[in-house]
Amino acid sequence: MKYKMELVVYLVILTLFSAITMFALLESRNRVAEDYFQNMTDSAEGIAVILARTTVITDNDLKELKGMSFIDSQSHPLNKQLEERTKGLCSICNIRYAYIMAPLSSSEIKYHVDSENKGFYGIKAGTPLNLIWLLDVLCDDNDLKKTDTPQKRLEYYKDINRYSYIRDEQKNILKNRTSTTEHTMDEWGSLITAYAPVYTVEGSFVGMLGIDISTERYESIWHESFSLVMAVYAFSFFVFLFLTLWIYRKFRIADRHAKYTDALTGAYNRRYQEDIIPSILMKPPFREAKYIVFIMVDIDHFKNMNDTYGHAFGDCRLKTLYSYLCDAVKRMSGVVIRWGGDEFMSVMRADDISEIALLMDELCATVREHCDCESGCSDVGMSVSVGCHVVPHDKFDTSAQERYISAADHALYEAKKRGRDCFVVTQG
Ligand code: GH3
Ligand code: MG
Repeated sequence: MKYKMELVVYLVILTLFSAITMFALLESRNRVAEDYFQNMTDSAEGIAVILARTTVITDNDLKELKGMSFIDSQSHPLNKQLEERTKGLCSICNIRYAYIMAPLSSSEIKYHVDSENKGFYGIKAGTPLNLIWLLDVLCDDNDLKKTDTPQKRLEYYKDINRYSYIRDEQKNILKNRTSTTEHTMDEWGSLITAYAPVYTVEGSFVGMLGIDISTERYESIWHESFSLVMAVYAFSFFVFLFLTLWIYRKFRIADRHAKYTDALTGAYNRRYQEDIIPSILMKPPFREAKYIVFIMVDIDHFKNMNDTYGHAFGDCRLKTLYSYLCDAVKRMSGVVIRWGGDEFMSVMRADDISEIALLMDELCATVREHCDCESGCSDVGMSVSVGCHVVPHDKFDTSAQERYISAADHALYEAKKRGRDCFVVTQG
């Protein structure tokens, strides 16, 4: 099939191009996200260090805070101060929590894991709760779990919730006492946590100041914008694909038209008769017909007409004859082919021999009486001779088409011999 190879090559290129674009989009998204998260992590670390270094706490404050209940610690000036400072930073980097986690010496331990809360801590009963959230600030009210409003938080938190045991990762952070970051994804969401050491004015180690920065908002923005780009891309791809196939179909139709049609009259050509007619004759309505009729029509003394009135006039007459012939055979499912020169061939179905003769007679009369032309020579007479070969369907052989056509041609010759402007019907 013409253009098929070109179409396949084009579609392969389009698919490759789309795959490369998709890959480039994904890669650039990952790179931008990676760079963004790196920047965010670095900024978080910087903020934690600044907050830790500017937290002025004395040994006395430390002792006082460790001895306080959770609710009292919430209203301690240092807690308030941390809250104000971190809330001020929320619009820049979306800090969700800020806190100081401080280790407790064995003499400072107030609670142990018991049978009731061992499920909560995930460790065996009896483990000492040797870590305290010395300061604990909730920074972004909009970004909290529903149960975690500031008021509910105060009601909900029991004093023991202020304590935990030092987990392995916290052990290292507390031991190293250097600023560090981690990215966690848990029930609190997707968070970047930055830690920095805090010392009292007197120089004792208090603990690690931590800030949790939520990355969820940014991740959902990435996700939404990327999804939008992908959706627009996919839509454009399918529109493009559809247009390509549509244009290809148009080309094929035009190509087929040019291949099988006579340029002057618009009738089918001989190639159509060779390639397509055999298959048409195998299908309904020809398959169910009683007779298959082959017709040859030739203009009488056409050469003279051309010589007398010009070639353009002759062309016009050819078109007129074609339209008459189409009208005549269309109710018998006829197909009209320009056979060459002033000769047309038609194949049609029929259920009655007499209706064939009637139709041929009508055709000759129509041409004789009504021949008109756009060129204004409508008073110039014209006649046609018609040869008809009728094949009963039970004797019809698709491979013998040439023989039937030649029989119709003989009948036409006979009509010419009989003086023209008449028709001859033979039966096979
Ligand atoms: P007859 O009655 O025996 O058929 O006489 P005729 O003059 O029609 O003879 P014939 O059928 O052999 O002549 C065909 C003529 O058709 C010859 C040629 O000049 C003319 N012709 C062929 N193709 C075209 C065409 O496309 N346009 C025009 N105007 N004339 C054509
Ligand atoms: Mg002729």
